[in-house]
Amino acid sequence: MNLYIRDLLNKYKDVRSVKNDYNGHKYIGCIIFNKNITYSYGYNIYNKFNKNVFSNSIHAEEDAIYKLKYTKKKKKVNVLIFRINKSFNKFMTVLPCYKCRLKLKYGLIKKGYNLNKIYCTNVIDNKINFIVIKKSEL
Ligand SMILES: [Zn+2]
Repeated sequence: MNLYIRDLLNKYKDVRSVKNDYNGHKYIGCIIFNKNITYSYGYNIYNKFNKNVFSNSIHAEEDAIYKLKYTKKKKKVNVLIFRINKSFNKFMTVLPCYKCRLKLKYGLIKKGYNLNKIYCTNVIDNKINFIVIKKSEL
């Protein structure tokens, strides 16, 4: 599993279309996948019109769930959340915020998906590991 997740990280680490958010200081990505199928990819977007209104920003998890297509087949999915620097060459540790935890718990079901596990990049001494969060822990 870890090897496959590392492939996903390399594939999606720099595909965000918004490279320089006006008020952005974190580059976070979220991939919804199962085995070799990627169902959705999202990234955080900061409000470009009012830098003082943080609440108007979109988190990567929200973006990925928003872009996810509805399914009637109850597909099982995993979620990978990563944080990377602005040069796209250094991963960092990340955890979903409270709001996104709830979105992952309830938003995926609404679209017809069963959440299995959430993998979050956890970087210690430049080594990439993953913090795994089960659905029951959300
Ligand atoms: Zn969040």
